[in-house]
Amino acid sequence: MKPATFTYLRPKNIDEALNYLAEYGDDAKILSGGQSLIPILNMRLSTPQYLIDIGRIEDLSYIRDEGDYLAIGAATKHIEIEQSALVKESCPLLHEGIQWVGHKQIRNRGTVGGSIAHADASAELPCILSALRGEIILAAVDGEEVVSPEEFFLTYMLTSIRPDQLVKEIRFPKLQATNGWAFVEMARRHGDFAMVEVACVVELNNLGQIEFCRMAAGGANPVPCVLELAEEFLIGKYPSEEVIKEAGAIAMEMVDPDGDLHGSAEYRRSLTGVMVQRAIKAAVERAGKVRNDE
Ligand SMILES: Cc1cc2nc3c(=O)[nH]c(=O)nc-3n(C[C@H](O)[C@H](O)[C@H](O)COP(=O)(O)OP(=O)(O)OC[C@H]3O[C@@H](n4cnc5c(N)ncnc54)[C@H](O)[C@@H]3O)c2cc1C
Repeated sequence: MKPATFTYLRPKNIDEALNYLAEYGDDAKILSGGQSLIPILNMRLSTPQYLIDIGRIEDLSYIRDEGDYLAIGAATKHIEIEQSALVKESCPLLHEGIQWVGHKQIRNRGTVGGSIAHADASAELPCILSALRGEIILAAVDGEEVVSPEEFFLTYMLTSIRPDQLVKEIRFPKLQATNGWAFVEMARRHGDFAMVEVACVVELNNLGQIEFCRMAAGGANPVPCVLELAEEFLIGKYPSEEVIKEAGAIAMEMVDPDGDLHGSAEYRRSLTGVMVQRAIKAAVERAGKVRNDE
C-alpha cells in the first residue's frame, strides 16, 4: 500500500517547525527518521493531512555535555549516539543500549526524538531514560516544558505531548566513574523489538554493599516500569545470589504484562525476573572492577 495524500512541509529551523505545528498540529504528523512513521503511513494506520519533516533541522541534532547530563537534540540519529565518544564515556548505559535498537540500517536513519515520541513499550531508549530519571524537553510557540518520562509515557504508543508541541531535546543523566551498568535484552531474533529488557546502574560502597541503584524494565508494561521497590530492596545489601534472586522476584511483582504472539503474560513476567537478575549481576561485576582498580 501507499500512503494517503498529504502536504509535505520541510521547515528550515525550529521556529518554522513550531509555527507549522501551531497552525496545522491537529492534522499533522512530525516526520523525523521515518523508521516507524513511514510504515504506519504506508499501511494507512495514520492519514495526516500534513507531514512536517524535522529530520534536516540542524539545530535539533547535537550531543552536548551539560555537566550532570547529556543533552541530545531530538533529530540526532541513533548511529551518532552509538558512535559518540562522549556518550560512551559519560553514559555507557546509553552506548550499550542503543546498539539493541533494530539493525544498523534503522539506526542510520532513526532518531532519539522519534523513539521517545513513538513510545513503543519495548523500545530501548524510553527504558534507559526512565531508569536514569532523565528528562524530555517539549517545545511549542508558547514556550518549553520539561517533563519526566513518568509524565510523558501514558500507555502503548501514547504520550502526553500536545498536537502543537515537538520533542526538542532529551536529557540523559551521566553516570559516575564508580558506577557499574548493564543493559540486557531478550528478543526472538537479533534486531527484533525486545520481549523484555532491563537497564540497570549500581554503585558499591567500600564494603561491597550496593549503595545506589537505578533500574527499569521495558516490554513488561505498556510504559517503561521503574523498578523502585527492587532498587530500594537492594540498597545496603551485599549482592549475593540470594539477594539478586529476591530483587528479581520483587521486579516480577511490579510488572503486569500483556501477552501477545511473541510471548504470554506469564512468560514476560517470568522473563522480567530473569533479566533483572542478569542486569544486576552484570552491573555489579562492572562496579566491582572499578572498586578493585581504585
Ligand atoms: C525493522 C525495524 C526494527 C525496529 N526495531 C526497533 C527496536 O529494536 N527498538 C526500537 O526502539 N525501535 C525499533 N524500530 C523502530 C524505530 O527504530 C524507532 O521507532 C525509530 O527510530 C523512531 O525514530 P524515527 O526518527 O524514525 O521516527 P519517525 O518514524 O519519523 O516518527 C515516529 C513517531 O514519532 C513522532 N515524532 C518523531 N520525532 C518527533 C519529535 N521530535 N517530536 C514529536 N514527535 C515526533 C512521529 O510523528 C511519529 O509518530 C524498528 C523499526 C523497524 C522498521
